[in-house]
Amino acid sequence: MKLTAPRGMNDVLPDDAPAWLKLEQAVRDACRRFGYEEIRTPVLEHTKLFQRGVGETTDIVEKQMFTLSAREEAEEDTLTLRPEITAPVVRSMIEHDLLKQRGFWKLYYFGPAFRKERPQKGRYRQFHQFGIEAIGAKEPLVDVESILLFAEILRSVGVEKFEVRFNSIGCETCRPAYRDSVQKAARSKLDRFCPDCKRRIDRNILRLFDCKIEGCKAAAKDLPSIKLCGPCADHDQRIRRSLGSSLPLRVDPTLVRGLDYYTQTVYEFASPLLGAQDALGGGGRYNNLVKELSGGEYDAGAVGFAAGVERVLIAMEASRGAPPEPPGLDFYAVAVDESQRQALFGVVSRLRAAGLSGTMDFEGRSLKAQMRSADKLRARVAVILGPDEAARGVVKLKNLRAQGDAREQEVKIDDVATKLRGA
Ligand SMILES: [Zn+2]
Ligand SMILES: [Zn+2]
Repeated sequence: MKLTAPRGMNDVLPDDAPAWLKLEQAVRDACRRFGYEEIRTPVLEHTKLFQRGVGETTDIVEKQMFTLSAREEAEEDTLTLRPEITAPVVRSMIEHDLLKQRGFWKLYYFGPAFRKERPQKGRYRQFHQFGIEAIGAKEPLVDVESILLFAEILRSVGVEKFEVRFNSIGCETCRPAYRDSVQKAARSKLDRFCPDCKRRIDRNILRLFDCKIEGCKAAAKDLPSIKLCGPCADHDQRIRRSLGSSLPLRVDPTLVRGLDYYTQTVYEFASPLLGAQDALGGGGRYNNLVKELSGGEYDAGAVGFAAGVERVLIAMEASRGAPPEPPGLDFYAVAVDESQRQALFGVVSRLRAAGLSGTMDFEGRSLKAQMRSADKLRARVAVILGPDEAARGVVKLKNLRAQGDAREQEVKIDDVATKLRGA
């Protein structure tokens, strides 16, 4: 049997890696400039973290989690591959009492998450997310900053075509009345909704807005929108005023997002470059999650977003055409015959110690085949050592990017590093 990767889980091969690296570096650089610090958490967590932190009635928790069989763990204490990274970050903050050290934290992450979905383009069972969590403030400018940071990351990797869908879903004060009015309206036109949505009407009414079925989407557009309470309306206004026209912002009253923990601000970044399933990622404010997961020990306002790495990569490719080239090497060392191999390995080690990148042939191949490798690996210079050069303590440098006579010169072994750095 041929061995393959598990369904919906992908390899990132060397040709694809430069685009991943470019995005990861852009994320790290933008987060650093915005004052966010990195946090890394395990890929496995106790299942109950997601039941409490994401919500028992969400599709993620009901259908999509990879939970390890409970042979060693007690049945009620199984482990699950994280389906998202916000709950783990909040769990970590609470566990390590970070909020006792500082009242406000700005954190970012970049890593894999896992959902048992039917794989399709840009949606996989092992997928990757980058995201931020700003924990410890209810100030609307933090919401604004999170949106600007998401936009900054997209622009810095060349993705200019996107819009920000934006909504407020209120708080404990104004949401119950909204929920009731949506419920009443939905019940009055029950036949327009799919069986899943009919169940949602009783269990988790706002999830109605997340249904992907066209009939449900159309019916959801006719449902009432929220009447915000004073503080929520004020929060909302300050964000919209502060963002002004700096971004393509579209207020969308049907945007509620799939997770239970949001309060007030919700937003989604979408790009036409992705086709029908156009979301790049989204986020919002979740003022109750820290309280919920800490059992009331901490009460901290929070804002965050999560973006799909694979989805941003599709938008990057569609924006720029050719993906970035692998970086190549400073040198490729070539042995004219077998007797120089050991000495050449010494030269290679010295050049690496001087900070240069390069490699050599380890397969005992001909001079010609070695020169072909130098080209394939995009080496800048071939460092050639034959018996004649070895006897005189020199190597021949061949500049693989230059033409004609400028291409070759002889250099003392002691001077090669200096020469290559200057070239
Ligand atoms: Zn409110
Ligand atoms: Zn539906």
